[in-house]
Amino acid sequence: MDHTDLYINGAWVKTDTRFDVINPATEQVLASVASAEIADADAALDAAEAAMAEWAARTPRQRSEVLRKAWELMTARLDHFANLITLENGKAGTDAKGEATYAAEFFRWFAEEAVRADGMITHAPASGARIMVQHKPAGLAILITPWNYPAAMGTRKIAPALAAGCGVIIKPASETPLTMLALMPLLEEAGVPPGLVNVLPSKRTGALVDHMLHDPRVRVVSFTGSTGVGRTLLKGAADQVLKPAMELGGNAPLVVFEDADINVAIEGTMLAKMRNLGEACTAANRIYVHADIAEDFTARLTAAMSALKVGDGADPSVDVGPLVNASTRDKVSEFVADAVAKGAKVECGGVVPEGTGYFYPPTVLSNVPEHAECVQDEIFGPVAAIQTFTDQEDVIRRANDTEYGLVAYVFSGDFKRGLQVCERLDYGMVGLNRGLVSDPAAPFGGTKQSGLGREGGHEGMLEFMETQYISASW
Ligand code: NAP
Repeated sequence: MDHTDLYINGAWVKTDTRFDVINPATEQVLASVASAEIADADAALDAAEAAMAEWAARTPRQRSEVLRKAWELMTARLDHFANLITLENGKAGTDAKGEATYAAEFFRWFAEEAVRADGMITHAPASGARIMVQHKPAGLAILITPWNYPAAMGTRKIAPALAAGCGVIIKPASETPLTMLALMPLLEEAGVPPGLVNVLPSKRTGALVDHMLHDPRVRVVSFTGSTGVGRTLLKGAADQVLKPAMELGGNAPLVVFEDADINVAIEGTMLAKMRNLGEACTAANRIYVHADIAEDFTARLTAAMSALKVGDGADPSVDVGPLVNASTRDKVSEFVADAVAKGAKVECGGVVPEGTGYFYPPTVLSNVPEHAECVQDEIFGPVAAIQTFTDQEDVIRRANDTEYGLVAYVFSGDFKRGLQVCERLDYGMVGLNRGLVSDPAAPFGGTKQSGLGREGGHEGMLEFMETQYISASW
């Protein structure tokens, strides 16, 4: 691996303490990566503060052109990034290429948004004074990302932060720091000045991040990861009243009505369930199928899941790579055992294969009871858990019966009915006859305990900006 050290102020910094990154397909050590300490965080904050002063003073068009160049460079090197993603995360080549493309698109989208930080001017109704509203860069931002999308969860934060004029420090997940480190030379080449973007892999995550959240120069904390860690960060952010952007866990319901086009529903379910082998906050976690079509749906889904080839994601013929680590694989296995003990039927998969690598086969469970743990909690693996329903009101109630509210999916051949159900779902995003909602041009985010704020769309850049209002007379 070319880049395994900390990236501070545009330079590679070695540390005494290092940690191993493992290839989940082979269980071999891929690289030994530098682990940041508090002094490194201080150096990164100093660098980001200095770089931001100059960057924020650039015109929106100048910032936009750097981001556009980053999109061009990344798009030209998709295979390089996809290979790296597969090596450290395990996901299959198609998933990895899809992620690299999605990741690059955030640079293009926010290159276009950088020049559209629109303000407004109007007359105050009573006094006649002018109300002038504008958006300014919020300040230094701490970005903390998970292992399931080592590139995209980073670029979804870096691109809007840079578009807004902010300097950033990224703490990538310890399982997958290599992709983010590999992105840094590309950003340099695109024209990002030294110090504006810093990357601090670390095994002292809690202490390191907490230290940065208490530095008075920091104004934003943007996190993607589990709801538990999100709560901890919100508490840490409270001391300095930081702007929080929290993309947290999900427990997505996917509802298939009896009038759905069954082929569309199967295709959508495969995408919603198996994109990123189920290791996604957007993964369909609870699949509710109308009883009239449940048998047909289950048979077709089982056939589609059984046809997927499992193996090392580096093999281009493989559809499903390994899970990221042993504990994630074991948790998936425990969810299946619990559901079966409570009455679920295994239609396919369900057995951990022998041998090296953290593999788990695509699995379909039918008759999954409501009290099974995989219905209550995120599976984060390739297991489709099917339940049935007969009544529309009942399925809406069950779909909403969770503390999460990230994404839901609805399949119906009746567009009016589909939209009416979408509006009744307490979710930040809904896929209607589609198994994929993620799009750089759309506001991604959840309600309830799935998070605060939105990434992408027009909203994404505002997470890194403060609104200023000037009351003026002339
Ligand atoms: P995680 O354990 O919450 O870790 C995410 C990041 O937080 C990692 O960089 C981790 O660093 C860091 N972290 C851990 N403890 C911390 C602490 N005390 N203070 C500050 N940072 C800390 O989540 P994960 O297991 O990597 O990712 C899976 C979760 O992310 C799922 O719940 C999934 O739904 C969610 N997710 C949400 C979205 C979304 O947009 N809503 C997208 C993707 C994933 P270390 O790796 O060093 O521990």
